[in-house]
Amino acid sequence: MRVIIFFFFLLITTTSFAVTFEGRFIQGSFILGKTNPGSKVFIDKKQVKVTSEGFFVFGLSRDRKNDVVITINKKKIVKKVYKRKYNIQRIDGLEEKKVTPPEEVYERIKRENKWIGQARAINSDLTFFTKKFITPVENAIISGVYGSQRILNGKSKWPHYGLDFAADEGTNIKAMLNGIVTLAEPDLFYTGGTLIFDHGHGISTLYMHMKKILVKEGQQIKQGDIIGTVGSTGRATGAHLDVRLNWFQTRLDPATVLDIK
Ligand SMILES: [Zn+2]
Repeated sequence: MRVIIFFFFLLITTTSFAVTFEGRFIQGSFILGKTNPGSKVFIDKKQVKVTSEGFFVFGLSRDRKNDVVITINKKKIVKKVYKRKYNIQRIDGLEEKKVTPPEEVYERIKRENKWIGQARAINSDLTFFTKKFITPVENAIISGVYGSQRILNGKSKWPHYGLDFAADEGTNIKAMLNGIVTLAEPDLFYTGGTLIFDHGHGISTLYMHMKKILVKEGQQIKQGDIIGTVGSTGRATGAHLDVRLNWFQTRLDPATVLDIK
């Protein structure tokens, strides 16, 4: 009898603890988790939504050093986060006012950053993030990667958080995933023609330097739809698409969701 009770107990504890992860525990990674529907899930101290099928999602920052603690129904799972090496990228010949913006555009930059931050803060119930992403530009050359330390006109700047696809101006851009357009701006100071999509649970993608934008805010877009064309608007040295992947305000590596490398 005692043995049976013990096995019953084991069954309960193991089933309530069932969880799988898709994605590697490396800096910059997008990680899709699956557990029992109705579970309470925390990533570090932050509670995250769980879909009716049990999916949840989170990401690891570029410089994440600590282990990540995933708490599911009060049980803790501790995962080590592996470090990456980032390269140094020098870009010269940029217009000086785009490297060190003049004071008269500070207000504009602040305002635009606020719009982007607001779009990234959306915590909707959409579940599009559970599906596989596709590459946004076919036959493009990867000309910039996530994490690189940037030196612009000899000045050390923010790391590069995007994945750059060099392509001819006017090349079609496809939506990487189903989503809802949360920002569509033709001419932001840094990012030029800019689109942001919400994919649910804080996962957003951002497309920048676009020449044409073919979608509107609030519109629901299907994966593979043509959303605009490649350009060199904003701070860009040549025609390319720079895509970003975010988990709320944490910038993730788009290559961790695309079949690249
Ligand atoms: Zn870029």
